[in-house]
Amino acid sequence: MPLILFAAPELWPDYAGVLPAALAEAGVRGARLVTATDRPEEVDYILHAPSAPLSDFRPFTRAKAVLSLWAGVERVVANPTLTQPLLRMVDPGLTEGMVEWVTGHVLRHHLGIDRHIVNPDRIWDPVGPPLARARPVAMLGLGALGLAAARALQALNFPLRGWSRTAKEIPGLATFHGEDGLAEALREAQIVVALLPRTAGTENILNARSLGLLPRGAVILNPGRGALIDEAALLAALDRGQVGHATLDTFRTEPLPPDHPFWHHPRVTVTPHVAAETRPSTAARALAENIRRGEAGERFLHVVDRARGY
Ligand code: NAP
Repeated sequence: MPLILFAAPELWPDYAGVLPAALAEAGVRGARLVTATDRPEEVDYILHAPSAPLSDFRPFTRAKAVLSLWAGVERVVANPTLTQPLLRMVDPGLTEGMVEWVTGHVLRHHLGIDRHIVNPDRIWDPVGPPLARARPVAMLGLGALGLAAARALQALNFPLRGWSRTAKEIPGLATFHGEDGLAEALREAQIVVALLPRTAGTENILNARSLGLLPRGAVILNPGRGALIDEAALLAALDRGQVGHATLDTFRTEPLPPDHPFWHHPRVTVTPHVAAETRPSTAARALAENIRRGEAGERFLHVVDRARGY
């Protein structure tokens, strides 16, 4: 009879209809779901989001895990009161959304769609794009989201160069890792997709040096985190033409302040952190599966490594 604290009350209406059913479907019997409690010592699982008012985890003495409703955990991972295992969100619905956002924005740039949409002088200019097979794409981050997006692009014949922290062998994908590997991953990439978590090791990974390794006119897509990019370096690279366009979904400050140069730059597209949201119907099943594991004494899935920060 686990007691589950849904600690992000404003999100509860999205989950109220799906979480109890997902828990029952997973075989978690007698779960009690609450959005607040004055008996923290009785809580078995905490479902958490950055917007949650809860930031002191110490009173939850018997909690087996904190389950994040978000894939990115940088706002909770360093919380010194958190001693319970932290589980990040890996939700098939979220992944599907990210694959669609990445594919759509890659195709926009690959096909040069803007030229036809924004054509005020009605110029008939029948120059077609190359095939995808001639447009190398670098995928920075080969986790749940990066790998899914890479596979979708691969299915369209884009040559993929993937970069991760640890070495990987992935059929059909040229893979690189570590600092030297980044240069290799970027060297021929005409489009770069950043799907890395925000950690000490990824902060400003796209900076003057790394942007300078790209072929001139390369396009940057950043649905990962704003802090992956050195903003001044990106603006300078855009102004020089080293970067042809940046499509940015995540920012150091969100909402992006109205006077931020990204809003006003002609070769920056801002999307308001909509690349992929957690989808309650599929996320509820992912949460229920980890709670089932906790109840059965099995290993949790998607445990965050505190030292690594993701
Ligand atoms: P994940 O499964 O944890 O994958 C992270 C990937 O980044 C892994 O491949 C990891 O390498 C790599 N990585 C981490 N640190 C690195 C470093 N220092 N150098 C090179 N590679 C490094 O995460 P995910 O679920 O794919 O999510 C990725 C990020 O997407 C999230 O953290 C979040 O910031 C962002 N996100 C954005 C939205 C949105 O709507 N815009 C939605 C959801 C998530 P290894 O494989 O070697 O560990």
